[in-house]
Amino acid sequence: MEPMTQQTETTSQPSPESRLSRLYRLAVVGLGLLCVLLLIAITVLWIQFNNLNLQRDQLQSSNTNLMMERDQLQTSNSNLMKERDQLQTSNSNLMKERDQLQTSNTNLMKERDQLQTSNTNLMKERDQLQTSNTNLMKERDQLKSMRQCWEFFDTSAYYISTDKKTWSESRDDCEDNGGDLVIINSKEEQEYLARKIGSKYTWIGLTDSERENQWKWVDGSALITAYWGQGQPDNLNEEDCAHVGYQENFSNKTWNDLSCSFRLQNCMFMAYHSFMDGISQAEFPPEALPILKSTDVLHLAE
Ligand code: CA
Ligand code: CA
Repeated sequence: MEPMTQQTETTSQPSPESRLSRLYRLAVVGLGLLCVLLLIAITVLWIQFNNLNLQRDQLQSSNTNLMMERDQLQTSNSNLMKERDQLQTSNSNLMKERDQLQTSNTNLMKERDQLQTSNTNLMKERDQLQTSNTNLMKERDQLKSMRQCWEFFDTSAYYISTDKKTWSESRDDCEDNGGDLVIINSKEEQEYLARKIGSKYTWIGLTDSERENQWKWVDGSALITAYWGQGQPDNLNEEDCAHVGYQENFSNKTWNDLSCSFRLQNCMFMAYHSFMDGISQAEFPPEALPILKSTDVLHLAE
């Protein structure tokens, strides 16, 4: 039994070579494992390195892009600022322009109002002128027709009004027409008027209203030759104005004194040359003046 024991002991206790070989193998395996680990580590590192390179490139590219983008944004920002400044300037100009337009508009509205007022006034003026023109035309027609009614004796023109007025109103009427109440200063003139007027009571330019019984003509001259009717002047009930046509027998004594407030027709007279002032020959030709002196007619024809 002993050999077996020895053999077992020989088997259970390896030899040094075997141990060495084993160690060697272990070392080889360890080295192999270490190599593998190193290879893995190198691979991992290489991959990471590549990734990092890639990331760096990407970052560089991204950085470049960002810088470009920043430059573009700076340019864009600069442009926007310029544009903003231009817009501010433009806005300021537009506001000025608006203010000017508002001022101009206000002025135009004032001007329009003034023109409307002026237009209204002009229309009123036109209407007044039209009315005035219409009245003047009526007056002209009246004057024309009145001129046809004038008669002439010696160097005077006579017109017997048909309106009945007081002595003062009659005198005003005569003066408005450029004449006056008639002054009778010759027998021939008295006879002419007595024939012409007949028995119609007609004011003449004689009054004693300033002092009783001191009769004066309207030109201030004193009465020299009178043609009072019978019993006149009698100053009955304060009679201070003279009229003709008192007696119906057509004698030459046709005057009477009467209250000046009575309303009578009147006899207006005017010097011939005054009557002819402003009247055209066509309007009143010489042949229409049969009683005029020949010298006066010749004067008119010149
Ligand atoms: Ca009297
Ligand atoms: Ca009388």
